Amino acid sequence: MKTFSFVIPCYRSEHTIEKVAAEIRETMAQRKEFDYEIICVNDCSPDNVYDVLVKMAEADKRVKVVNLAKNMGKHCAVMAGYSAVEGDYVVNIDDDCQSPVYELWNLMKPIFEEDYDVVTAIYNEKKESKGKKLGSDINLWVSEIMLDKPKGLRFENFSAMKRFVCDEMLKYKNPYPYMEGLILQVTKRITGVRMDQRERGDDMGSGFTLSKSIKLFANGFTSFSIKPLRVATIVGTLFAFLGFVFGLYIIIHKIIDPSVPMGYSSTMAVILFSNGLIMFLLGLIGEYVGRIFICINNSPQYVIRNTINVSSGIEKEA
Ligand code: UDP
Ligand code: MG
Repeated sequence: MKTFSFVIPCYRSEHTIEKVAAEIRETMAQRKEFDYEIICVNDCSPDNVYDVLVKMAEADKRVKVVNLAKNMGKHCAVMAGYSAVEGDYVVNIDDDCQSPVYELWNLMKPIFEEDYDVVTAIYNEKKESKGKKLGSDINLWVSEIMLDKPKGLRFENFSAMKRFVCDEMLKYKNPYPYMEGLILQVTKRITGVRMDQRERGDDMGSGFTLSKSIKLFANGFTSFSIKPLRVATIVGTLFAFLGFVFGLYIIIHKIIDPSVPMGYSSTMAVILFSNGLIMFLLGLIGEYVGRIFICINNSPQYVIRNTINVSSGIEKEA
């Protein structure tokens, strides 16, 4: 029997998480040939969602809880959830009833019928504030350029993938995980399924503050790409070249027109050329620093305080 693993990062969702679980149960009841587990990761939420999760896990062994010691942000929480996955298909959903879980069987079609590895919902109309939309549009644009992402494919809060993708993603042990970057390192067999987006199930507003969005943006920008450093190298080379050409021009100008003040030509030529060269070298050093940074930055992605009903390697009871 194939099993679905629903991974839900929980943050400020004491009033909605039970409803999400109920939606999952209802949806899974439509296809008895599949088993399922619900992995809830408490991202050190400031509300009482942990107590709710404990009760849910006591009542139903299929509910598994990973309790983080610190708030690490959504992407780290999801990685912590993946480490507890035991199923064959992993489904990512949010904790605030925004993910249209009842569309699961539609979402799964490309995986079942067309052998895609990852499928994400594509929402017809985004129900979010203008500021948030601008933020995610910029993120989309950056990830298209930095991660060579297929054009227009936006990873939404409802997606599914085969187990091997999640296992592969877990090999990434560095801090600052970035889901899209990790997925795109594993496979390009990704597609989307159109559906409607839902409003939040409570009136809490987005848990993504501006600073969290900016951090996420920086992760996508630097953690999975050294293209910005390459740009520095190219700009440096260009400047060094222009400096060299302009230097030549100034020297020739001085020879043709001796009235140019003494020292001006040589000073300008040296400044232009050496500045270009310095920029080039900085870019080159930056490239190396970037590579080292990517390789050795190994502070933890997440810290698990305890788990409930989890039987894989990460079991730790408080
Ligand atoms: N989230 C998290 N840690 C945080 C902030 C958010 O795990 O510090 C999770 C949250 O539980 C939810 C998802 O990220 O499952 C999306 O959060 P939210 O609904 O607040 O943001 P939005 O829907 O506006 O993207
Ligand atoms: Mg939400």
